[in-house]
Amino acid sequence: MGINLFIFGVMLLFGQAGVAQSVPPDAVAKTDLWLNVQLRWDTSLQSQAFQFWVNQQKQLGGRIIVDHVQSRGAELYLDPVLQNTLAQWSQDQGVLTFEPGESLVTANYPKSAEIRAKQVGFAKAYPTLVRNFNLGASEKGQPILASRITSQKNLDTKPKFKYIANMHGDEIVGRELLILFMGYLVKNYGKNQRITRLLDGVDLWLVPTMNPDGADMRSRFNAKGKDLNRSFPDFTTNDTNNTPAGRPAEVMAIMKFQAMMPFKLSANFHGGAEVVNYPWDTMPGDHPEKIKVIQASQAYADRVDYFKSPEFPLGIVNGYAWYEVDGGMQDWSWYWHKDLQLTIELSQEKWPPYEKVSEYFKQNVQAMVELVERVLP
Ligand SMILES: [Zn+2]
Repeated sequence: MGINLFIFGVMLLFGQAGVAQSVPPDAVAKTDLWLNVQLRWDTSLQSQAFQFWVNQQKQLGGRIIVDHVQSRGAELYLDPVLQNTLAQWSQDQGVLTFEPGESLVTANYPKSAEIRAKQVGFAKAYPTLVRNFNLGASEKGQPILASRITSQKNLDTKPKFKYIANMHGDEIVGRELLILFMGYLVKNYGKNQRITRLLDGVDLWLVPTMNPDGADMRSRFNAKGKDLNRSFPDFTTNDTNNTPAGRPAEVMAIMKFQAMMPFKLSANFHGGAEVVNYPWDTMPGDHPEKIKVIQASQAYADRVDYFKSPEFPLGIVNGYAWYEVDGGMQDWSWYWHKDLQLTIELSQEKWPPYEKVSEYFKQNVQAMVELVERVLP
């Protein structure tokens, strides 16, 4: 009850702010536009040429994001002004480019407001286990809602774990899994010994949707065209101040949250590939907790049958060895907060038919439980 009032109060506050104040023009950041292209190639030489070309464009100051590089292709997001440059290059290299096919399977996926309603529903039905907290508002003013799921035992001394999903709005499976996970945990507490031990021993936080606006638009980006997984501080770039000011609203919310909560371990669900990605993302070389991070990643991948593939025989991959990410959440989390974070790519299809979601949950639930158990004393 208290928390519902709290959320209502916060929403009311935003509503009032919107009416009472006009936003100064310089506070309205322009929206970045992106061209989304899939590339396909046949040889590793073309793959190397691609990396080279991307680095060249970045050095020239081009706005360009690479994602999900695989042996035969990659995803690319680029400033529309680079369209002709890309066309020329891909023609010279014999690389195929095409716009991703728009699957029309959106039916049945809940909107972000419905996801929040489910979180609120769990808190109402299981008030001693679930409480919701608004971490802040998205660019369009939607609350970014975290659910804390834990029993009242040793509340202040338990190790903290968190799952975050859907920071890329079009990678939707993770947030469905977190909602199903909530249901699974609350229904099994007090009945299943293992889950009882889990919620008695861990202070568990779930953020099913970090990018509610992007999800509603079915876009990777937030409402201002920002890639949230390229917008965190990065110790290898010029952006080395661990301060939220000036960042996308969704990133600010997570940064403030993390500053208050000493998490021991986290995972961050994505889609578009099937693999556990571990730090570093931003630079080559070993992570200081290399053994721990590889063990945790391998344990997860070993539990999920479909993670082993010709592309990723072990089901795990070092982030940088796969492709460089600057400004990612995973590296930031450990570098500044010593919260070890994995990036779990759940599904090749970013937006599979909704009926498949329960199958993904069945395949992942054991791994999800075990990853949380790793912080138990
Ligand atoms: Zn992603």
